[in-house]
Amino acid sequence: MAQVRLSGIGKTYPDGTSAVAGLDLDIAEGEFLVLVGPSGCGKTTALRMVAGLEEITSGTLTIGERVVNRTPARDRDVAMVFQSYALYPHLSVRDNIAFGLQLRKLPKREIKQRVEAVAETLGLTEHLDRRPRNLSGGQRQRVAMGRAIVRQPQAFLMDEPLSNLDAKLRVQMRAEISRLQRDLGVTTVYVTHDQVEAMTLGDRVAVLKKGVLQQVAPPQELYNRP
Ligand code: ADP
Ligand code: ADP
Repeated sequence: MAQVRLSGIGKTYPDGTSAVAGLDLDIAEGEFLVLVGPSGCGKTTALRMVAGLEEITSGTLTIGERVVNRTPARDRDVAMVFQSYALYPHLSVRDNIAFGLQLRKLPKREIKQRVEAVAETLGLTEHLDRRPRNLSGGQRQRVAMGRAIVRQPQAFLMDEPLSNLDAKLRVQMRAEISRLQRDLGVTTVYVTHDQVEAMTLGDRVAVLKKGVLQQVAPPQELYNRP
C-alpha cells in the first residue's frame, strides 16, 4: 500500500501560473522516490504541497490512510529538509533538533534520549551545544536532517538538500543520506535537478517537465536506455 499517494494533484498559483498538473504518484512505504527535472518544472511546488506548505488546487493527497488536502503542515506527520537548512541561529544544535518534539510537548527525558540518539547517528554528539553559525556546511545539513528524522515522520521530504555544499561534501553527504534512509526505512521524497543524485539515491525516479510527469522508473531503466 502506498504511504504517500498523489492522485491528479495540480497547482495553479493565484497569478494563473500552472506549476503542476494531473500528477499521479504512489510512493510505497520505505521507498526513496526522487523527483527530478529542470529548474521551474514544478518539483518544489509538488514537494511543498505534500508538506502542506502550499495549497493544493486539484486532486487528492493521501498520507498513510488519511486524505490530508486540508490538513495543516504541522498535523501532517511529514518532515521537510530545506535547501537553506532554515536552522534557528539563536538555538544550540540540541535545541534545533529538539524543536519539533518540544512543540509536541513530549516528556523531557524522551526528548533528550531521542535527540542524543539522532545526534549519534549523524555524528553530531560533540556539537550538541554549539550554535549553527559555528558549524561547517555539512554539519548544518546534518542538523537539518536530524531535526526532521527525530520526529519519526511518516514521510521525509528533502528539497535539494545538498545544493549549498561543495562537490566533495556533496558526494559524502549523498552517501550518508542513502545510508540513513535505508537504516531508518523511512518513506522519502527527494527533489533535485541533478541526475547523478537521482540515479544514486532513488529506488525510483519521477521525471517532471513543465509540471507534467513524464515517467517514473527505477534509475537503471531511465538512464541506461540505448
Ligand atoms: P522547480 O522546483 O522545479 O524549480 P517550482 O515548483 O519552483 O519549480 O516552480 C514551478 C513553476 O511555478 C515555475 O514556473 C515558477 O516560476 C512558478 N512558481 C513558483 N512559485 C510561484 C509563486 N509563488 N507564484 C507564481 N508562480 C510560481
Ligand atoms: P527553486 O529553484 O529552489 O524552486 P526558486 O528560486 O525558483 O527556488 O524560488 C524561490 C521562491 O520564490 C519560492 O518560494 C517560490 O515559491 C518563489 N517563486 C518562484 N517563482 C515565482 C514566481 N514566478 N512568482 C512568485 N514567486 C515565485
